[in-house]
Amino acid sequence: MSVAVAKLATRERIEAGPSSLWRYSMLLPADPPADSASGPGWTPLVPAPRFAAAVGVGEVFLKLDLSNPTHSFKDRVVAVAAAKAREFGLETLSATSTGNLANAVAARAAATGMRAVIFCPAGLEPEKFQATTVYGATVYGVRGSYDDCSRLVSELAGEVDWGIVNVNLRAYYSEGSKTLAFEISEQLGWETPDAVVMPIGSGAMYTKVWKGFNQFRQLELVAGSLPRMFGGQAAGCNPVATAFAENKRVTPQRPQSVGATGVAVGALREAVARGELGESDRVVLLVTGTGLKTPKVSQSSGQIIEIEPDVDALLEELGVTA
Ligand SMILES: *Cc1c(COP(=O)(O)O)cnc(C)c1O
Repeated sequence: MSVAVAKLATRERIEAGPSSLWRYSMLLPADPPADSASGPGWTPLVPAPRFAAAVGVGEVFLKLDLSNPTHSFKDRVVAVAAAKAREFGLETLSATSTGNLANAVAARAAATGMRAVIFCPAGLEPEKFQATTVYGATVYGVRGSYDDCSRLVSELAGEVDWGIVNVNLRAYYSEGSKTLAFEISEQLGWETPDAVVMPIGSGAMYTKVWKGFNQFRQLELVAGSLPRMFGGQAAGCNPVATAFAENKRVTPQRPQSVGATGVAVGALREAVARGELGESDRVVLLVTGTGLKTPKVSQSSGQIIEIEPDVDALLEELGVTA
């Protein structure tokens, strides 16, 4: 990192910055937009002592990235890519997505007056894209797999003057993930946790979170060692986990699961079961999205029991004898 960056990246300057990820703009590859104070990022880091006791680790802090503007971690990466798109003078913001990224791109484009065009594989749950179309984005369902969709958009990228956040702006986009590491360190009082546990999609977030902690260490903004990093993937779609286990390159898979961030909890439990995490560890678990975006999963838990406005009937229903 350059000497100039090291001079700018001080605790005092960061603490005086906006309550959003743009407080770390000196470590990001785009200038902050005019509305940098309004988010995303700077999401809550909350202790979860009962959960820590239940899984058998010393402390757990939940990093609640579902409190970003479109309820997922993707608002971070889109913020940086969209700011860069503006710097480049582009007027259309685009992405290939299966849900969260579409929401984030559509919202950010609407906020800045850009056009949004989203490409997803045809046949996904329409509920996932409701919020996307509400923000005014055009959504194309590509007949084929997610890989067919990605290939189509990579070809398109050479033909149009668009900022496609996870294609031709990917280098900027992925840097946005570092802000998770920056925030966790600052929120813990400029300390690193012992471990960070998170869900893995492509693995981009995972690697950039590591890079974020490493940059903070190089800049001496935090002391101590790098946190140990644990990542989980859903059993029904686990190309990174499979490649890691077999020591091979990643090969694409067709998803057979609904990825919610519950896989991070699975990864945490597995790490404890293997003796890699325990009572002496302070662990941060990344809550990068919310299952409420997958109504099929969340609906099954909500049965309303209808009752009369009559206290005797209610006591009987509750099994309370007066
Ligand atoms: C995108 C996303 C991630 C990280 O995905 P990577 O492809 O590994 O960067 C994690 N959780 C949620 C909910 C996401 O939408």
